[in-house]
Amino acid sequence: MIPRRASYRDIPLYAPSKRPCRVDLSDNTNLFGVPPSVERVLTSCVSAVPRYPQGYAPELRRALATCIGAEPEAVTTGCGSDDIIDSALRAFLEPGDTLAFQDPTFVMVPMFAKVNGLNAVPVPLAPDFDVDADALLATGAKVIYLCSPNNPTGTALSRAAVERVVDGAPGIVVIDEAYADFSPGKAFLELARSRRNVLVTRTFSKAFGLAGLRVGWGVGSPELVAEVEKARGPYKLTGVAEAVAVSVLTDDADWVRDRAAAAVACRERLRGELTALGLSPLPSEANFLMVPLPGAQAVAERMRERSVNVRAFQGLTGVGDALRVGVGPWPLMETALAALRESLR
Ligand code: PMP
Repeated sequence: MIPRRASYRDIPLYAPSKRPCRVDLSDNTNLFGVPPSVERVLTSCVSAVPRYPQGYAPELRRALATCIGAEPEAVTTGCGSDDIIDSALRAFLEPGDTLAFQDPTFVMVPMFAKVNGLNAVPVPLAPDFDVDADALLATGAKVIYLCSPNNPTGTALSRAAVERVVDGAPGIVVIDEAYADFSPGKAFLELARSRRNVLVTRTFSKAFGLAGLRVGWGVGSPELVAEVEKARGPYKLTGVAEAVAVSVLTDDADWVRDRAAAAVACRERLRGELTALGLSPLPSEANFLMVPLPGAQAVAERMRERSVNVRAFQGLTGVGDALRVGVGPWPLMETALAALRESLR
């Protein structure tokens, strides 16, 4: 028997169903291909592989800072934005402190709360899927987590409610914008520039097509970012991942924007088809649709038998059972729709 940490005993390993499927719409990644500069950069950085990368990804920080008109000290990076959220919780909360977050939201957030020994307080979204600012503030949490567009609902938060949370929060507000590239013009990034208590997180895993390289980033005031960097530690971004992320950011911006627009167009076309089936997908600002559906788990299993993987959720607050369907090129959507039609029978 190895001596196990008591508080870890009931923490499950995060392992969503990943049976190999011909069409995998379960993780909201970019299904439109590989950014053009990736192959060139991968070849050119082979010689750097035997050496350690630079400790704190300075080139990517600089490139991102230029992109958003900030100083590099206002930018942090990580092994996915997961790493930044987890690091921020460690940076600002002691075990036993309260983390409040909207519910439903990104499934890893309550997991991060558990592994960091935090008191997790989920706060239901309002019936219109906006955040309940007063209820969140009433928790007195030292860190509040918001997500917009939200995973798994796809819905976006209103500026008024988010600003109310940020202005009233006694501590830090993390705004997870993993899907912001699919709703240009509606992001909250500028709050990370104008307020000292806001950390906005973003990722290269979704619109930017680099999920396999694990690159996330965040923006906040330099003193906030310095604490996150400390908690995260050095060498979390490989040199290869850093080089590719810089090139996709600087050379492939049009590719990324056009594919994100294509995803949005496919999403709305998919909405039409699902509505014609009698389903009622939630409004979405992301690259997926959440479809409330009693018995979603069984439907997803039948779709997997037809080699289409979508994510099923059970008993989500304010939604119930639902399928989350990622969006990709239309031929993939047609395959998914055919599998869904057969699985609904
Ligand atoms: N936030 C949200 C809302 C997500 O859906 C995801 C990935 N599913 C992440 C963060 C983490 O993404 P990554 O670690 O790949 O940057």
